[in-house]
Amino acid sequence: MVTEALQQVHEAGMVHSDFKLDNVVVEANKKGKPERVHIIDFGFSVSVGGRKSPRKSAERKEWYCDCFYSGDKMQAKCDVLGLGVILMEVLDILEEVPEELEEMVERTQEFEHDLRPEVKEVRELLERLL
Ligand SMILES: [Zn+2]
Repeated sequence: MVTEALQQVHEAGMVHSDFKLDNVVVEANKKGKPERVHIIDFGFSVSVGGRKSPRKSAERKEWYCDCFYSGDKMQAKCDVLGLGVILMEVLDILEEVPEELEEMVERTQEFEHDLRPEVKEVRELLERLL
């Protein structure tokens, strides 16, 4: 569901840039079953291909793509980094993590955008495994 919500952001032509667990809100029904996921806080978002003004990386956060600091063009894959960080937090509470999923999460942390998986790939894998 998280991946679906993120895909929608990208389809709308936006890069969130600050994609972390705090900015994901899960809406549950009365029985506590998760029904919908909302992505919030678009304070740092830019349009796909847009740039952030370069900033010092002293305040570096693990889910921020390097483009966030360098002022390079932002793209959907910039948010894949944050998606990976979220998945790592989720996988932490699982006793057993499928190897495929572990590898996919590792790929989300690649420095090169080209080496990172597409959100779609992550989504398809999650749908297949869960
Ligand atoms: Zn980037």
